[in-house]
Amino acid sequence: MGTEAPETERTLALLDELGVGYGCDVPIGPRTWYGVGGSAAVMAHPTGAEQLATLIERCAEAGIDSRVLGKGANLLVIEGTLGGVTIALDDPGFRVIDIDVNAERAIAGAGADLERLITSTVRAGLAGLEGLAGIPATVGGALRMNAGGAFGEIGPAVESVDVIEPDGRLHTLGRAALEFSYRRSNLCQRLICSATFALKRVEDQAALREKLKQVMAYKKGSQPMAASSAGCAFKNPKTQSEHGAGKLIDDAGLKGLRIGGAEVSTVHANFIVLHEGGTAADVLAVMNEVQRRVKDQTGITLQREVVVWEPDISQRTQSTQRTTE
Ligand SMILES: Cc1cc2nc3c(=O)[nH]c(=O)nc-3n(C[C@H](O)[C@H](O)[C@H](O)COP(=O)(O)OP(=O)(O)OC[C@H]3O[C@@H](n4cnc5c(N)ncnc54)[C@H](O)[C@@H]3O)c2cc1C
Repeated sequence: MGTEAPETERTLALLDELGVGYGCDVPIGPRTWYGVGGSAAVMAHPTGAEQLATLIERCAEAGIDSRVLGKGANLLVIEGTLGGVTIALDDPGFRVIDIDVNAERAIAGAGADLERLITSTVRAGLAGLEGLAGIPATVGGALRMNAGGAFGEIGPAVESVDVIEPDGRLHTLGRAALEFSYRRSNLCQRLICSATFALKRVEDQAALREKLKQVMAYKKGSQPMAASSAGCAFKNPKTQSEHGAGKLIDDAGLKGLRIGGAEVSTVHANFIVLHEGGTAADVLAVMNEVQRRVKDQTGITLQREVVVWEPDISQRTQSTQRTTE
């Protein structure tokens, strides 16, 4: 421990005190859909909501940065080492899926795979989540940004969410306290532990399964699902333009724009795909260039949908880290 940066030493001492399992210098890039990028100085694996809440509380008190890693499908981790603590919700308790058909309800841990939740509920004859098929996510990651698309969003199916506030307070937000809008929620500053979904039991289960297949087919046909990406790079600028971000990027002639190994997809202009040998920094460079050129041509500043975790350039092996969206 003596050779670690001071913040890392404090983080490890705290994790030891709380009995939270961890790893040091853990590569995060390979855990994201881009498959490249930086590492976490410390990655913690809490075993329950109470332990996690205490960890968040103590990190806040000690001024230690904390962040949660989901499935890495909306994340770009720039090369370098992120300080503070990166939290993985990979304990079985955070990945639980509990379906009650009679109550028309499903409870899922924040670390549960969204696709597993969707297929489990559809198989049980419960409708409400099938429109999200094909979106790679954990339940927590999907709730945070109100994931969705042409067939609906996750928000309307949510009954309540168990969250940890930035000060470590663990509590339940009922439907009335939840706000969901286009790729936004009021969960962004909170850590999501689990959620309850209110679903609808259907008589025609074959039709429900067919709908799931249709959604998947639509997604595969309209997006470069097999390519290395983080989904849509930018939010649709709904208040500033009738056009989606993809159309604005396409109209600006940016399909195929390439920097290093990163390229604006020729299939869907709002996807930035990464080729063999490319880096996370290449993706960020393409994002910045797209923003600049669309702004020049239309006056519209595209907002990132992808979350970027960026170690401080001047202290790449130390603790400072910025999270930008
Ligand atoms: C091929 C492809 C297609 C996609 N298609 C769509 C689509 O159709 N619609 C759509 O909406 N998105 C789409 N996306 C983007 C992505 O699937 C969603 O944004 C998804 O919700 C990301 O979830 P995640 O678990 O991977 O989060 P991550 O990428 O791991 O994290 C993203 C952010 O969520 C935070 N987060 C994760 N877990 C929690 C938690 N428990 N509590 C609080 N914060 C948390 C992270 O800290 C980070 O800030 C696509 C991505 C890919 C790669």
